[in-house]
Amino acid sequence: MKIFNTLTRNKEEFVPVTPGKAGIYVCGPTVYDFIHIGNARPMIVFDTLRRYLEYRGYEVNYVSNFTDVDDKIIRRANEEHVDSLEISERFIKECKKDMEALNVRPATTHPQATKEIPDMIDMVQQLIDKGHAYCVNGTVYFRTRSFDGYGKLSHKNIDDLESGHRDEAHQLKVSGEDEKEDALDFVLWKPKKEGEPSWESPWGDGRPGWHLECSVMSRKYIGGTLDIHAGGEDLIFPHHENEIAQSEAANGVTFSNYWMHNGFLKIDNEKMSKSLGNFFTVRDICEKYDPQVIRFFMLSAQYRSPLNFSDQLVESAKNGLDRILNGAKKLEDIAAKNNGKEISEEEQKLLAELPNYVAKFDAAMDDDLNTADAISAIFELIRFTNAGTNEESSSAFAKQLYDTLFTLSDTVLGIHLTRAEAEMSEDETAVIESMIAERTAAKKAKDFAKADEIRAKLLDMGIVIEDTREGVKWRKA
Ligand code: AMP
Ligand code: ZN
Repeated sequence: MKIFNTLTRNKEEFVPVTPGKAGIYVCGPTVYDFIHIGNARPMIVFDTLRRYLEYRGYEVNYVSNFTDVDDKIIRRANEEHVDSLEISERFIKECKKDMEALNVRPATTHPQATKEIPDMIDMVQQLIDKGHAYCVNGTVYFRTRSFDGYGKLSHKNIDDLESGHRDEAHQLKVSGEDEKEDALDFVLWKPKKEGEPSWESPWGDGRPGWHLECSVMSRKYIGGTLDIHAGGEDLIFPHHENEIAQSEAANGVTFSNYWMHNGFLKIDNEKMSKSLGNFFTVRDICEKYDPQVIRFFMLSAQYRSPLNFSDQLVESAKNGLDRILNGAKKLEDIAAKNNGKEISEEEQKLLAELPNYVAKFDAAMDDDLNTADAISAIFELIRFTNAGTNEESSSAFAKQLYDTLFTLSDTVLGIHLTRAEAEMSEDETAVIESMIAERTAAKKAKDFAKADEIRAKLLDMGIVIEDTREGVKWRKA
């Protein structure tokens, strides 16, 4: 598999530290509110990366944190007059519900900063001992210039950064950070302020800085060198640059061999973000659309491309997904008949072509996780199965086609092959079925006007019916 590595700006063959294993760390959300669908993009695309590597036989250790101590969490806790832990625990729970709806599998480990404080303190101490950090009045800073490779991920020159910062000298004074040795230095440990959560440390009570938590937790749950570190492209600088500086200065080994960054989800060509107010929460969007459609929409673009969000584009994703689901339903129905027929010679010939579609899918995914092309390969497979099957096909043949489709769509892309029918209540189902029975009776009595009227009513309710040899079948439109 080839991966575009932000560090080298090249597509490189993926070679893991340990053959057959992959350690992946993905920066997770700050939990002070419901997540928006921009936050869901890295969750969905890197969950798909994990699924694809597993399908290729890797044992994946997938670690993604929840940032549960942060100014925004504290601000919200103060507004609601509750403990900041209550806010973070509440929104971790809500975030996990959204992840489940989007079929994002739970990480192998979801570490939380507040539960890893002793390890944070250890890393800060190591950095101080090695001369990479220093303490002033209870704040510990990273001595940025002591780390040679600073700027290598974001391809920034340290002297350009310095001159940019010099203009901010006035701001630094205002923020109380003028005690730093150098404007480029960043915070590892912040001293306690009134009304904020804090922990004891050798430098006084305080809390860890945001960048530190990812360096500490990735080392603890994966090791000194990660195979892949991932997140949204807004994290390249300064967050990931600072993570590299901390980790490589402390551990003395390469922090991550590959860096993957997803492009932004945009609205009217602007990044969707909380601060701009142009966001939709995953919760709200899932009221309007089947979450499967949202997942499919996210994967309809390669992860590095910007992706515009609009009702029109989601509708077109829904139509694309419907083509796949209808094709799957046809195969499922034939397979379920269990007609005991032997696979015919003609069917054998068609089955021999099946690996070509899988190879196309794999080639797309091998090319820097090109899910857009992988979905095109699934569309080709659907055209092939639609053309190659009919009511007379053997069930065994249909089952083999279905199983292949299931692996690519459900197992790897995380797109279920069935619609979320389960959401329909028993009462609703009973109403639909009694209307269908009424229509069947009307047809028998040759009252076709009434039969058509019932069909139209069902369509208004979003239910499509189909007359087949086995009787009337129905599905959500
Ligand atoms: P945050 O909670 O802001 O740290 O974001 C959590 C994750 O969502 C990070 O990996 C961000 O890069 C990513 N992210 C935030 N907004 C967007 C967006 N509009 N499009 C894509 N990724 C985003
Ligand atoms: Zn991080």
